[in-house]
Amino acid sequence: MSRPEALFPLFAGLETLPGIGPRTAKALDALGITRPKDFLFLLPHSVIDRERKTSLREVVPPTILTVEVEVGAHFPPRLKGKPYRIMVRDSQTEFMLVYFHARGEYLQTLLPTGQRRLVSGKVEFFDGVAQMTHPDHVLRLEEAGTLPPFEPVYPLGAGVTQRQMAKAAQTARARLAPLAEWIDPHLLAREGWPSLAEALDTAHAPQGLGDIAPTTPARARLAYDELFAYQITLALARSGLRSGKGQPSIGTNVLQAKVLASLPFAPTGAQARAIAQIAQDMESPARMNRLLQGDVGSGKTLVAFLALLIAVEAGGQGVMMAPTEILARQHYEGIAGLAAAAGVRVELLTGRDKGKERAAKLVDLAQGKINILLGTHAVFQKDVSFQDLRLAMVDEQHRFGVAQRMELGAKGAAADVLVMTATPIPRSLALASYGDMDISVLDEKPPGRKPIKTAMISDGRMDEVFAHLARAIAEGKRAYWVCPLVEESEVVDLTSAQTRFASLRAQLGDMVGLVHGQMPPLEKDLVMARFQRGDIKVLVATTVIEVGVNVPEATIMVIERAEIFGLSQLHQLRGRVGRGDAESTCLLLYQAPLTESAGRRLRVIRDTEDGFRISEEDLAIRGAGDLIGTAQSGLPKFRVADLERQAGLMAIAQTDARRLLGDDPALQSPRGLAVRSLLWLLDQERAMQLIRVG
Ligand code: ADP
Ligand code: MG
Repeated sequence: MSRPEALFPLFAGLETLPGIGPRTAKALDALGITRPKDFLFLLPHSVIDRERKTSLREVVPPTILTVEVEVGAHFPPRLKGKPYRIMVRDSQTEFMLVYFHARGEYLQTLLPTGQRRLVSGKVEFFDGVAQMTHPDHVLRLEEAGTLPPFEPVYPLGAGVTQRQMAKAAQTARARLAPLAEWIDPHLLAREGWPSLAEALDTAHAPQGLGDIAPTTPARARLAYDELFAYQITLALARSGLRSGKGQPSIGTNVLQAKVLASLPFAPTGAQARAIAQIAQDMESPARMNRLLQGDVGSGKTLVAFLALLIAVEAGGQGVMMAPTEILARQHYEGIAGLAAAAGVRVELLTGRDKGKERAAKLVDLAQGKINILLGTHAVFQKDVSFQDLRLAMVDEQHRFGVAQRMELGAKGAAADVLVMTATPIPRSLALASYGDMDISVLDEKPPGRKPIKTAMISDGRMDEVFAHLARAIAEGKRAYWVCPLVEESEVVDLTSAQTRFASLRAQLGDMVGLVHGQMPPLEKDLVMARFQRGDIKVLVATTVIEVGVNVPEATIMVIERAEIFGLSQLHQLRGRVGRGDAESTCLLLYQAPLTESAGRRLRVIRDTEDGFRISEEDLAIRGAGDLIGTAQSGLPKFRVADLERQAGLMAIAQTDARRLLGDDPALQSPRGLAVRSLLWLLDQERAMQLIRVG
């Protein structure tokens, strides 16, 4: 799809903008600004009140003052290292301009004695004398008009000034030709949003701090533009996948019924809903692109396996890929029993498979003798071919982004795609990270789970904790003891796992073991196995146990310095206990005094086990940027939109984007063509490619 001609001036080189030479252009590049259009959506994050005053007397320092003065005497420094001072007089009083390391000659030209200038900068009192150190602006009266009463403050990198940014943004806006509106007219009217041009003018020329708020109509509109462009891309990816030659896979229920009959429990309502949604997607000729999201212990394995069985019942095969060898093995162990009940053949394929054995597996796979393949990314190697792959499943644990999923979809030919994630994330982030997918949520835990008793304990009461632990061990219980770091850090005083291990050993004897991230893997496996068997009763560990450990007999979790862990980490750690029938306990040890936010976080963990609620709280406390590494999550960087506060807009953008593409899949209607301009302006290159192929 070629770029509309009306946009050409906005795609010219940066140096075509006044005041921008090669050096500034390079500095801008570091800010992600490569074309004039990039200035449009880079908005000021603050505003400085530079309204003219008649005198210093009108304000209360320290503050920004903008005033006309007559330049008085210059006082060059008498000693090296002392400042250069210039006396000035406004309509009522005198004050001092102060410069450090300045060249006198330069200041003589800038501020000649006897002349009038407009100066603007921060005034402060020093020893009772008002002074303005390094004024932000010194202007001759005839240029005074170029300083707006409210000066926008842009995010800056080295080598770019506010004036350059403001000027460039202004020129970029002037180059914006009138474009057809891409926002749904009903939405625009309902929200009272301005046109793009008006919104940009308002957002770039704030008339006070109120205009910086994300809720102003101008900023809300620009945020929506960004979210809408992104959701159009996701919707294009989605419809590309769905319209790709999908294959209806209709389950007979024969194998699924066998598995369900073999279980001592019935599926939860959430499991039943999820499997019904998956079955419906697989039955349809459109390709499935679905996310299965469920907290630890919500029973994803059963849902995943039933989905794989649909593929087998329909006469085909299924594959499930996990991010690591350990997790792939754990899936295999979790599924083996279910597979036996169904009478299907499941095999594991990882990087460890070599030579003849591997070759034999590949032959069986190609001939359809293997029904379900589990493994690492090894399952998608070039020489791995299926007889009839119907379902490709990924257990992603936050390691995949949108782009990678698109690749996966391309590999699996006509296969339906199901992605599983165990990390509960708030709905707004799910819409951003997984907006190209349909989402099934397991928001209900299997019944009969005993709640984990969680308590916050100051580490001043460590003796009580030791005593409690000794009693529990005597009763045959097993415990994890998590420490934050392996070595004593000189910077932060953290109790190291090694010190803790030594002190617990001194009290409890050789039933205490230690695992940490720097141990050789074999040694680690050995210690884990001893804990699993119960030879070790207390496992002192760094956070290596966070992922993928399953010891149902362990019922006590002690987390030391809990206040320095993140919420989702605490949630995952606690999820290591409460896996069996016995009552479980989690002790959050903290170093008093707690800061307000640390206290708030620990109370969230103490008061709920609901991973989704915890993730919402986490978002509220930390903000979207911090919550998950942007690159890691595949979450885009938005310039204007704020995912935390504009979750509602994201949902609207998704619905609207899907509806528009439903009506106009190739974006050829008048509104579709307008949307193309938006995609160009907001760098949705991926969308361009998708339109081209589509
Ligand atoms: P997840 O993978 O979501 O963390 P699992 O699939 O490993 O959870 O399930 C956790 C435990 O719950 C397993 O022991 C499983 O057998 C059990 N389970 C799954 N579904 C149910 C159910 N509907 N009722 C009771 N127990 C269930
Ligand atoms: Mg599991």
